[in-house]
Amino acid sequence: MTTQTPLRNPTPGFLRREVRLRPMPFPYLAALSICSDIDECDRRTFLAVHQFINDPDGGLGLPIADSFFAVGRSPGQLAYFLSDGRSPGPDAELIVKAIRAGLIDSLHSWGDFNDTPPQPSELRDIASRLTEDFTRRGLQLKVWINHGDPCNRQNLRARLQPGYSGGDPGSPFFTLDLVRALGIKYYWWSELVDWPLSGREPPVTMRVTVQPFINHLKNVIKILIGHRQLIRTTAQVTDLCLPARFADGTTLMAFNRHLRRFREPSTRHTLHYTLTPAVLDELMAEQGYLILYTHLGMPRFEGGELLPAADLRALQYLAGLYHQGKIWVAPT
Ligand SMILES: [Zn+2]
Repeated sequence: MTTQTPLRNPTPGFLRREVRLRPMPFPYLAALSICSDIDECDRRTFLAVHQFINDPDGGLGLPIADSFFAVGRSPGQLAYFLSDGRSPGPDAELIVKAIRAGLIDSLHSWGDFNDTPPQPSELRDIASRLTEDFTRRGLQLKVWINHGDPCNRQNLRARLQPGYSGGDPGSPFFTLDLVRALGIKYYWWSELVDWPLSGREPPVTMRVTVQPFINHLKNVIKILIGHRQLIRTTAQVTDLCLPARFADGTTLMAFNRHLRRFREPSTRHTLHYTLTPAVLDELMAEQGYLILYTHLGMPRFEGGELLPAADLRALQYLAGLYHQGKIWVAPT
């Protein structure tokens, strides 16, 4: 044990009060990411969307990334493997290049298993092959996004989906060990909110004050009607990221995504619901965070207009705030 001596010249009180850590990197007031599920997106659409959004010359110059499936189902679906789950598909090299370039930062789970659950042994093989390929190439991913309907048993734990069991070591669908081997640190746990999430010390606004009480009231109702498993803690409706501990003793950081008025489907043709002056002003006023849930690749691009006028204006407005140093736009 050591004895601490008091500082001879402690920092004067007026300086201690003045020096504070900013909630955002200078000069930004708030932070926003667009976290895009790759459902239905083909190569042509992916290239058209990201050429426009990311290109600093001729595009918007926004650092927005996307996701990919290990295995897709619909023809043309951007995925690493063909539907046999073992042969690299025609877009595998594009996916690798996009990861290296920062245009893809998320895995939209091992595959699209809507309507039909994966066969456990095949699921394990797909996950092992992708992990081995990525390890051999020196690639890592940090973000996992749960996908789809309840048949997607490979998904990680989610409040509203008791069948998701990719993180349960007692389940035949367990692959969390391989998820971690890919480098995954964060996962979207299928939770949506339609308000900004708090900064470190959110300013006291009516919404910030009232939100926990509304959530508490909803929890009481859920308990009364016998749905205790659906309750959300205050942190689950106010924080961007929370630690989620799994039965194998490991932890990932689970994050919430934003869907304005919970209106589905969320595509690049509905960006104007969220990227409005009213929503982004609220985000800046609360010095908050927002991870927008969308599908940038929907609908498929067939030539002609990539974005309807309202959605083009919405993205241009966001790009303006980013380039003015007001909203920090970043990959997921
Ligand atoms: Zn999806």
